[in-house]
Amino acid sequence: MSIITRFAPSPTGLLHLGHAASALIGWRRARAGGGRFLLRLEDIDPTRCRPEFATAILRDLAWLGIDWDEEVRVQSAHLPDYAAVLGELRGRGLLYPCFCTRAEISREVAASIAAPHGPDGAPIYPGICKGLSDSERVRRIAAGAPHAWRLDMARAVGEVGPLHWHEEEVGDVPANPSAFGDVVLARREVSASYHLCVSHDDALQGVSLVTRGEDLRAATSVHRLLQALMNWPTPTYAHHPLLRDAQGRRLAKRDGVRSIADLHAAGLSPAYVRALAEDGA
Ligand code: GLU
Repeated sequence: MSIITRFAPSPTGLLHLGHAASALIGWRRARAGGGRFLLRLEDIDPTRCRPEFATAILRDLAWLGIDWDEEVRVQSAHLPDYAAVLGELRGRGLLYPCFCTRAEISREVAASIAAPHGPDGAPIYPGICKGLSDSERVRRIAAGAPHAWRLDMARAVGEVGPLHWHEEEVGDVPANPSAFGDVVLARREVSASYHLCVSHDDALQGVSLVTRGEDLRAATSVHRLLQALMNWPTPTYAHHPLLRDAQGRRLAKRDGVRSIADLHAAGLSPAYVRALAEDGA
């Protein structure tokens, strides 16, 4: 079976060297192995994603000489796919509606003695809505109360048992999704979530090797759990170090890091910019 890799940016800004480095890793692996390289735009959050950034991503990748196979998958055009997964998980009693606002969760967390945080830095959901009765849930939803859908983590983990994934150059890594608590699979504002969409799409698109930054390594535990619950295949993972600036900070758009578009406009060649990205500029 030939290798299928992907680059899955969220169009929340212009690509910088860190993105280029990540895209090049996946692209080179696919091209070296006679496989396929896919491009996916993870744009389900309309408050953060903008169509002009999506256009710019395609333009900048093409300028860098990175080509992709198949049509670009644009997640916002496939919301019914994600709703179907949510429907199934809900039918199996693995999700519950959460009516909390962020402020309510923060207040509850601040008032509790131990306020554990998940690997992503977010507080573990303190379970406010977990104990609501079915009739209360139905009443609130019927009244139009905005709500997210959370995974009942204990139940989900109990259903599938211990899990691991294969991390290239490391070996089998035990998954620890419980560290995230009852994660949100459909947000209040967006009827899906990153964890749900990325796991669904990697399975749908037959991705066999996920290459992405090490900042997403911990989240792989949640993705592995969703794969097990939905009987989706598990790709191999290869999390790579993030590019850092001269001060050792990871590159981020907010720090005014120069975009690929800036480097292009400054007259640098695609080969030079690729080398900057790959040498860990
Ligand atoms: N869309 C995610 C991001 O831009 C990356 C998803 C992934 O590679 O798994 O951070």
